[in-house]
Amino acid sequence: MKIIFPLILPLLLILAACTASTPTGSEPILALVHGTLIDGRGGSPLQDAVLLIQGERILAIGPYRQVKIPRSARVIDLKGKTILPGFINAHVHFAFDERNLAAWAQGGVTTVRDEGYQGPKTLEQLVAWRNAANQNPGNARLVSAGRMITVPGGYGSLHVDSPESARQAVFSELDAGLDVIKISMEDGYAGTSGLPKLSPEELSAIVTAAHERGVRVSGHITQAAYLKDIVEAGVDDAAHLAYDPIPMEILQSMVAKDIYLVPTFSVFRAYGAPTGPLLENLSNFIKAGGKVAMGNDYGGGPGDFELGIPMYEIEMMAEAGMSPMQVILASTRNAAHVVGLEDEIGTLEAGKIADILVVSANPLDDLQALRQVFMVAHLGQIIFPQGEKPLATPTSTSNSSD
Ligand SMILES: [Zn+2]
Repeated sequence: MKIIFPLILPLLLILAACTASTPTGSEPILALVHGTLIDGRGGSPLQDAVLLIQGERILAIGPYRQVKIPRSARVIDLKGKTILPGFINAHVHFAFDERNLAAWAQGGVTTVRDEGYQGPKTLEQLVAWRNAANQNPGNARLVSAGRMITVPGGYGSLHVDSPESARQAVFSELDAGLDVIKISMEDGYAGTSGLPKLSPEELSAIVTAAHERGVRVSGHITQAAYLKDIVEAGVDDAAHLAYDPIPMEILQSMVAKDIYLVPTFSVFRAYGAPTGPLLENLSNFIKAGGKVAMGNDYGGGPGDFELGIPMYEIEMMAEAGMSPMQVILASTRNAAHVVGLEDEIGTLEAGKIADILVVSANPLDDLQALRQVFMVAHLGQIIFPQGEKPLATPTSTSNSSD
């Protein structure tokens, strides 16, 4: 492979570029050139890259010397900059708020998953609000779990009291058009304890019903014992770490079942939980081969949470032993998986939606580069900087073609 790979790869890229770069529509083409491109699939970055955008989609990606740039394209020189997939925050609240969605998008987070709405809107109003908000590229794309399912008196706002009512609750949420199901297994919060929780039969009914519809289930837990329950039920992601030590066999079971983990260090900080066990749990999960998706539980506790890229989450993931590439994958491809949109976003590939983050240095060298957001495109449109005309550098490039 070491000999064949370098020969085949450029050929494939040329073929991909040639087939993909034939403009199919009349929409203008945007060419991002000379940047270093991290595509979110985990391989080595592409130096001196070209990324062509037409409409809301990526038209082609490849080395500058090999991708034909249509003469009509608007060209933006990103030399010295790094191009990444738009980041995805897989655990937030208060996303039914246009100011928050705009702030996330401006900061490079082009998709958020709202993990539980509590408020006056009906299901139909939530879905209508989401659909309208998602028309505006200036907003982060909103993926919504609707209301968190629990039992009467439990932690959550959608109450079920039998496996059959649990199944019906899932269908009523999904029939309304929500994107993901959220359940909770929480013993206590904010000074309470001994809260009632879903039975194994109810958990199983929820997961089965959601999976029948091809929809993922996210499970709220904060303790290892309940993580064990939701892992046994077969949820798709754990929406938090546990604050007590997680036995290795539970982490291994998560890996075997491909259950992702969304750490949410930020909300544990908000409640003053010690970081030691959290870091240890995440470190063990990574060593076991687990997949992490970035999420900070924005608004899930007291105090301030970061909008835009949640650097505290990024720093804590790194402190737990995740490499810069692992942190980037958690924030892009893996988060796209848990929000159920891995076919559309999370990686930079021809045909995918052009949600793009450009930073002024290379985060593989130092994750602090993620603080230097240079440009953000969402649905193919540059949304940061706002009124970004100064970025436009009409260049006559040596490889231009029609
Ligand atoms: Zn939450």
